[in-house]
Amino acid sequence: MASHVVPRRWKSGMIEVGAKVFAYVQASGIDPTGDTGVANSGLIVGPSAAVAVDALMVPSMTRRLVTAIKKTTRKPIAQLINTHHHLDHTGGNRFFRRTTIVSTNKCREALAPGFPPVPLLQRFMPKFAAEFPKLQVVLPTVTFEDRMVLYDGEREIQLWHPGFAAHTVGDATAYLPKERILFAGDIAFLYVALVRREAKQRFDAGMPADAAAGDIKLGVYASWSDPERILPNVMRCYQEFRDELDQPMDLPRMLAGMERLRGAASAHACV
Ligand SMILES: [Zn+2]
Repeated sequence: MASHVVPRRWKSGMIEVGAKVFAYVQASGIDPTGDTGVANSGLIVGPSAAVAVDALMVPSMTRRLVTAIKKTTRKPIAQLINTHHHLDHTGGNRFFRRTTIVSTNKCREALAPGFPPVPLLQRFMPKFAAEFPKLQVVLPTVTFEDRMVLYDGEREIQLWHPGFAAHTVGDATAYLPKERILFAGDIAFLYVALVRREAKQRFDAGMPADAAAGDIKLGVYASWSDPERILPNVMRCYQEFRDELDQPMDLPRMLAGMERLRGAASAHACV
């Protein structure tokens, strides 16, 4: 069977994916200490201003992102799009001071109560523990329900919410129709199709989510780092099967289960 080749390591930087459209990729790679929270960002440079997509998580990440943006363009960042409320996409909002922050109304509602408690974050992502106490929530200032279009000259940026809960209650994608480029946030993980199919079989068989997460074989995706992230995906699938997608995730249960899976994985580690 052909296997996916996962690069062992890659650097942070802007990658031009279309004319003046950039993906900002954060350095990472196969890392036994995990890379949860290491998200990517986007930059769309128009004739009069630029638009950023997602603000990353902790201050050190967003400072590097802002430096990379300034090296790429001298245009002001007119808008920042939050694709969803998760900390690794909104934690850096406060570094975009003279910028209009745009999200779905449901994303704003989900972010309004604040980020998860610092001790929980430190347990979940110990690599960034020192920076979590510095986080401050900055809410989007412009929201939309299902659709919104941003224009800058000839360029059109179509914002779209699927109309139901997917990765979160308030996901948005940003699509550039002329360039055919999609910023999908976190709703386009290919491996979710496999996880959903396998989770459904186990759900129908009455297996609890935690047990299903440990039981599913990830096949070509087994070499991805942090394989315990399968649990939040399985829990989300179970919510969908129970028609409870509007309910919040049980974070303490999820974290405890992920720790158990991580322990089981490292006992069989072959790296
Ligand atoms: Zn997310």
